[in-house]
Amino acid sequence: MGRSQLSDWAFQRCISPRCGATFDIGETLSSCLRCGELLDVDYQWDRLPVPKSLREFESAWARRHDPFAFSGVWRFHSLLPFAPREQSVTIGEGQTLLQRADWVAPYVGLEPGRLFLQYEGMNPSGSFKDNGMAAAFTHARLLGAQRAACASTGNTSASLALYCAVTRLMRAIIFVGSGKIASGKLAQALEFGALTIQIQGDFDDAMARVKEVAKQLGIYLVNSLNPFRLEGQKTTMYRVLEALGWEPPDWIVVPGGNLGNSSAFGKALWELKQLDLIKRIPRLAVVNASGANTLSQLVNTLGVRWNAGEPDRHLIAEYFRAMEAENRRASTIASAIEINRPVNLTKCLRALEWCEGVVCDVSDQDILDAKAQVGIGGFGCEPASAASVAGTKELVRQGIIGKDERVVCVLTGHQLKDPNATVAYHTTDKELFSKVLGCRGVRRATFANRAVVVPNDLEEIIKAVRLYS
Ligand SMILES: *Cc1c(COP(=O)(O)O)cnc(C)c1O
Ligand SMILES: [Zn+2]
Repeated sequence: MGRSQLSDWAFQRCISPRCGATFDIGETLSSCLRCGELLDVDYQWDRLPVPKSLREFESAWARRHDPFAFSGVWRFHSLLPFAPREQSVTIGEGQTLLQRADWVAPYVGLEPGRLFLQYEGMNPSGSFKDNGMAAAFTHARLLGAQRAACASTGNTSASLALYCAVTRLMRAIIFVGSGKIASGKLAQALEFGALTIQIQGDFDDAMARVKEVAKQLGIYLVNSLNPFRLEGQKTTMYRVLEALGWEPPDWIVVPGGNLGNSSAFGKALWELKQLDLIKRIPRLAVVNASGANTLSQLVNTLGVRWNAGEPDRHLIAEYFRAMEAENRRASTIASAIEINRPVNLTKCLRALEWCEGVVCDVSDQDILDAKAQVGIGGFGCEPASAASVAGTKELVRQGIIGKDERVVCVLTGHQLKDPNATVAYHTTDKELFSKVLGCRGVRRATFANRAVVVPNDLEEIIKAVRLYS
């Protein structure tokens, strides 16, 4: 775009070590112009006032009247300093909570005090996407963008629509697949006034189209290909560490869809280690749904690795070619991770390398049972989020996670995002159950809390209440 340099120390860099091309942060790119790989935002840390200890961030707690000190993203500004702090966009994101979850620990096979749930559903739009949106929006504003677009399984569009509505800085344009978006998320996008383009197809189709449209019309793209968005998503890790008194846990477990979060977490932890702000990097576990398990197939079945920046591209291309030839479409109740072509695949492979990571996949049955267990403790989440808990159970079963290790599962989205799945799980209506869940291979609602059906008769009602309470 030929703008003058926007920052003296922040730049974009191709993640391929062999290429390593760099670009000004004033450019809007979704891939390297030289080789096509993904881009990072990178910094010349030695020219920046990096904190000497993570404890320095605690001083922000006393300054909560300052919106940038209040924001769970921008109070860590010195770890994502691509824009001047005062020009950052915040709507109060990142006020999220790490909760010790002793009620779920036995379910996944961990000892008491070992399982923690990081509840990102407390964000303003109800999912972790707000962490990234605050950062992408800041970049978009820096460039003077008037319109911002995304393809979405729902939560990115809800977040974009909210940021546009609150800040009035840009017009939101969202691309969704037909019938694929959970009602809570669609409700948000529509009510917040986003231009909603519904195309016939699934997320992968919408993603391909939005890239073309954004390019032709010069619209700012906020999908997780956007490296600035991932800078914001690093902050979940900072808040987890903060909540644990800056002592890294043994494991971070996260659902994998487009693999933006896992990539951002890996970068966050790697940078903290490089800056000598943590002594040890937690291990990363990325959990796919069995019906959308590209990462798990590539890593576990085909043995694809980051391989110093040279993953086996031929094997990966073959995998996608076969998928296309067989017309295999992603299918899972966890709609937020119903993605077969994860855009951040190579970045996630790098994160797995940095964090000695593992991948597994879990069935929709396991996801919904895990979700019900999370809910019993009063921590509602949407189905995709529960994949982290189901995945932990699976990895403990496989002996990969030890019973006495400290595990943080990231609950990515709010319970009310997808009420249909929850109601269908607990329903007494067999038809509803089979319509919503049966077609996903879900056979039982192991932890259902079913309504007790009684006639409208006082004696019968009293009998029922006595019997069940
Ligand atoms: C977007 C989303 C995911 C998937 O995250 P990726 O970064 O795309 O892997 C998981 N859960 C929820 C609730 C989401 O909104
Ligand atoms: Zn490159």
